[in-house]
Amino acid sequence: MDNCIFCKIAAGEIPSTTIYEDEEFRVFFDINPASKGHCLVIPKQHYDNVFEIDGEKAGRLFALATRVARNLKQELNCEGMNIVQNNGTIAGQTVFHFHLHLIPRYTGDQVRVEWHPGQADPEELAKLAEAVGRGL
Ligand code: AMP
Ligand code: ZN
Repeated sequence: MDNCIFCKIAAGEIPSTTIYEDEEFRVFFDINPASKGHCLVIPKQHYDNVFEIDGEKAGRLFALATRVARNLKQELNCEGMNIVQNNGTIAGQTVFHFHLHLIPRYTGDQVRVEWHPGQADPEELAKLAEAVGRGL
């Protein structure tokens, strides 16, 4: 993808503060961190988002993310961590190259990941479970 900033970061054509890289993935600090240690895990290959990424690759990416999460926690002494992954403009995605946010959490930080809990209709849920589960 010629115009993709994360493809360029993946290839080392745009600088990043890289924590880790191998043939498949790069982990680097977010340039506008939500909290200390906020970093991103990306595949080097371009996929717009979760609707495109190869499932096996996503599995390996998440396995790597668990290791990064533990090292971040150890080093930063954060109390918790949000792992966030936005897909589509409506969901807050601004860079259209799949990425996982690792956001360490500290008491008194300014991070907010929130929604207003709704009411579920059990019949509707049952129908939806059947439909969505079909063919998985
Ligand atoms: P999202 O809104 O989920 O698409 O997240 C994109 C993230 O990429 C934001 O948190 C940005 O701060 C981050 N970002 C954009 N450009 C760069 C860059 N050159 N280096 C590091 N992080 C970046
Ligand atoms: Zn890309």
